[in-house]
Amino acid sequence: MGYSGFRILKEALTGHKGWKPAWRKAEPQAEYDIIIIGGGGHGLAAAYYLASKFDQKRIAVLEKGWIGGGNIGRNTTIIRSNYMLHENEGFYEFSLKLWEGLEQDVNYNAMVSQRGILNLYHSDPQRDAYARRGNAMILNGADAKLLDQDGVRKLYPFLNFDNARFPIQGGLLQPRGGTVRHDAVAWGYARAADKRGVDIIENCEVTGFDIKDGTCTGVQTTRGRIGAKKVGVAVAGNSSRVMAMAGMHLPIESHVLQAFVSEGLKPIIPGVITYGAGHFYVSQSDKGGLVFGGDIDGYNSYAQRGNLPVVEDVCEGGMSLMPMIGKARLLRMWGGIMDMSMDGSPIIDKTHIEGLYFNGGWCYGGFKATPASGYSFAHLLATDTPHETAKAYRLDRFSRGLMIDEKGQGAQPNLH
Ligand SMILES: Cc1cc2nc3c(=O)[nH]c(=O)nc-3n(C[C@H](O)[C@H](O)[C@H](O)COP(=O)(O)OP(=O)(O)OC[C@H]3O[C@@H](n4cnc5c(N)ncnc54)[C@H](O)[C@@H]3O)c2cc1C
Repeated sequence: MGYSGFRILKEALTGHKGWKPAWRKAEPQAEYDIIIIGGGGHGLAAAYYLASKFDQKRIAVLEKGWIGGGNIGRNTTIIRSNYMLHENEGFYEFSLKLWEGLEQDVNYNAMVSQRGILNLYHSDPQRDAYARRGNAMILNGADAKLLDQDGVRKLYPFLNFDNARFPIQGGLLQPRGGTVRHDAVAWGYARAADKRGVDIIENCEVTGFDIKDGTCTGVQTTRGRIGAKKVGVAVAGNSSRVMAMAGMHLPIESHVLQAFVSEGLKPIIPGVITYGAGHFYVSQSDKGGLVFGGDIDGYNSYAQRGNLPVVEDVCEGGMSLMPMIGKARLLRMWGGIMDMSMDGSPIIDKTHIEGLYFNGGWCYGGFKATPASGYSFAHLLATDTPHETAKAYRLDRFSRGLMIDEKGQGAQPNLH
């Protein structure tokens, strides 16, 4: 059943009796060509592209909980391609281009909204660094504009320009950046993959790998053994735990990242703003809530909830940037588990075990990567070669000293 304006009208006039479940409740088969572990954004996107672009058949996605229960439904919905390093910029720009055609591709309204993302700068050196980053973006085919203080004032007159400890001098704007409704991304990919024959199996936790003579032949799950020619792991915050079952120790630590939503307010923030003198960012949802967040919690955890010191830090950042936010009441908050890699960049690679592939290390920036990550992982699984935009995301880069340290801050989990 295709979704369209005509369909909505027809259903509205006929009592909404024609809607069908968006995807089947598939039962596990004994054997698949390809199994993807993890029904988050990346796993579902990989399955969809495997079936739609790489002509692969007999694919299953195994999800231990429900579709949308992980980070894909917990993030703050920001998409952008404002990276500086060549290894990252090409990949994230590829992702942004896929976002731009996503809704037509999967026939699902994901509310892709290119409302612009603005990174504020507060000093001359920071301005110079942003100018350099903007130029790197443009060289990679992305869009970027360096704004002075007047330029920022025109967009966001309510910001605390001069009275703050770190006055706002200007910002780097990426007009094509923005937000996408995160759970619609999961549902859209799930529905489109299911339509192409992918089995989406919820409540099916992988509890072990069948590895014989260095080859992975399938997985053990809470719903029995499932054989596969190839197994791809895309479990985000659970990467270390799952890969440990295959005897692998990853250069990844898991930390909690929190998100916050205020009560609904009249439209005030047209785009996404990130504060350059602290860790705070904010946008406004279509329902009116201010959606904001900041840094990861300071210690490792697999709990999908956060702690108060970060709440305080995020609120201080918000008050410093736009003091009127102090009048808004907080409606809800939650946490998700981040797979923090040691250089802050992801991994999409084969492992040393034949037939076992890994996708992870997305840190707190993997939502925007969902389409490109899924596409590149599908490319790797189908062809056994990396996609051209993901060639640098190798697992062995840590032992070869080829880190992709976008922030120039070394090991990301040890920032505190
Ligand atoms: C608060 C917050 C804000 C964020 N904001 C942004 C943002 O604005 N922009 C951005 O780009 N990124 C953001 N992120 C990061 C982004 O959400 C993640 O990097 C990305 O969603 C991770 O990929 P995923 O969607 O596949 O993960 P998930 O949705 O977590 O999928 C992984 C799945 O694997 C499943 N799984 C785990 N173990 C097993 C097992 N043994 N068997 C079967 N299934 C298993 C889990 O249940 C889960 O559903 C944010 C994250 C959080 C928490």
